[in-house]
Amino acid sequence: MAKSFRNFIGGEWVAPAGGAFLENRNPADTGDLIGRFPDSDARDVTRAVRSAKRGFAAWSNTPAPQRGDVLRRVGDLMVERKEAIADAMSREMGKVLAETRGDVQEGIDTAYYAAGEGRRLFGRTVPSELGAKWAMSWRRPIGVVGLITPFNFPMAIPTWKMFPALLCGNSVIIKPSEDVPHTVHLLVEILLEAGLPPDAVQLVHGRGETVGKALVEHPEVPVISFTGSTATGAIIGETCGRMHKRLSLEMGGKNAMIVMDDADLDLALEGVLWGAFGTTGQRCTATSRLILHRKVHDRFLRRLVEAAEGLRLGDGRAERTDVGPLIHEASRANVERYVEIGREEGAELLTGGKAPGGRLAAGWFYRPTVFAGVRAGNRLEQEEIFGPVLSVIRVGSFDEAVRVNNGVRYGLSSSVYTRDVNLAFRALQALDNGITYINAPTIGAEAHLPFGGVKATGNGHREGGWGVYEFYSETKVGYVDYSGRLQRAQIDTYDV
Ligand code: NAD
Repeated sequence: MAKSFRNFIGGEWVAPAGGAFLENRNPADTGDLIGRFPDSDARDVTRAVRSAKRGFAAWSNTPAPQRGDVLRRVGDLMVERKEAIADAMSREMGKVLAETRGDVQEGIDTAYYAAGEGRRLFGRTVPSELGAKWAMSWRRPIGVVGLITPFNFPMAIPTWKMFPALLCGNSVIIKPSEDVPHTVHLLVEILLEAGLPPDAVQLVHGRGETVGKALVEHPEVPVISFTGSTATGAIIGETCGRMHKRLSLEMGGKNAMIVMDDADLDLALEGVLWGAFGTTGQRCTATSRLILHRKVHDRFLRRLVEAAEGLRLGDGRAERTDVGPLIHEASRANVERYVEIGREEGAELLTGGKAPGGRLAAGWFYRPTVFAGVRAGNRLEQEEIFGPVLSVIRVGSFDEAVRVNNGVRYGLSSSVYTRDVNLAFRALQALDNGITYINAPTIGAEAHLPFGGVKATGNGHREGGWGVYEFYSETKVGYVDYSGRLQRAQIDTYDV
């Protein structure tokens, strides 16, 4: 009998108000039931908000360096449990252990960065234009923060949001993806063990259209941070706009790797395999387009197809596996639909294009797929697929490659392989993305740098790095006039 997990609301582990649960199954072997997780509703969100408001009152008055100390202990506990969490994450999400270990490590890095930030959280002291007047700014907590996260980075993305939000003195309510609820359950256990006051964190499991929606629509949750698809982000954005909420959106991508005629092709080959088929293509930064210079096009493709066919599919928890399954049946059906679209658009299927049989039939596996002859503007080239499907576009020049890269609605990440330093710097300027890699694939962000994209990928905010602390705090300004008389800014000094 699989375990029934609970929400964490009001300082205790509780069953959902409606008593309903959702099954969490291993995508590599759907016969493996991990547990039942709450299928919560708006009533659970209401209770969580009530408790989070109490949590905010106490936690926001805890000095920031002490808040940082709690997050340092969180990091320490994550280090201790890294292997166990990675194993649980591979079981529910499917990606290989090397990647789930990396996912936990990103959380650890984020915890230690946040811990240090507790002794910074800089404000500014600046000269006033008037004499005997002091002018300064500092950062204040905002209130209850609602966090909604996707399935593909079950630990890293929740920590990118939670840790800076908590360090800034807010209380948080997290609704993790219903596809990977176990990892955040383990994270909340760690937060409590590390000494976070229980009311400062609430975990409400459930579906987006119920729990996620209720959180976004709750009038006493002034800040929402969402990572997921652009379609869901648009719905959330409308509500938050209407309700004047502070909102961070991190959404879809259609990232390209450009391989120029002077590139180190061995390096580029390794990069594209990792970028396109790592996490089974289910990364917001996945390399889903390969823009090849015509002079290396045929040579590179031959090697790519052979290498893609050599990738070993399997359970992510087996050390020999290169590529795990897709997250669920609907996701595989979506990939199949795009393969059909590619065929209809006249692209040439070089390898893949089907699910494997045999012992892999028990999971949502799909073979690494490469389409050549994809034309800029085709649906295969424009739309996010979120699976192991790589579209190859042939170009004749760097300028054409830039046009193809920039010709999509998304703008998360891009990559260029070249040995020409001038071209590398031109690319950094010309490619319209939040992140550009030179001689590395479109993935590989580090926790202490800003992460996010332009156009339909985001709404101007960034996760990670220093900027995210501005998102989760309010700037307050104070003026102290110690002149003993009325001084008028803009008027007294510039009176002509
Ligand atoms: P999704 O949009 O289906 O779901 C994301 C989260 O939103 C889930 O927790 C879901 O329950 C919730 N949700 C769904 N409908 C909702 C609603 N109406 N109101 C409130 N919440 C709702 O995305 P997914 O399939 O879990 O993840 C894949 C997507 O995430 C891809 O598009 C990918 O590019 C994107 N992503 C972006 C980044 C980034 O940083 N830019 C990182 C990872 C993933």
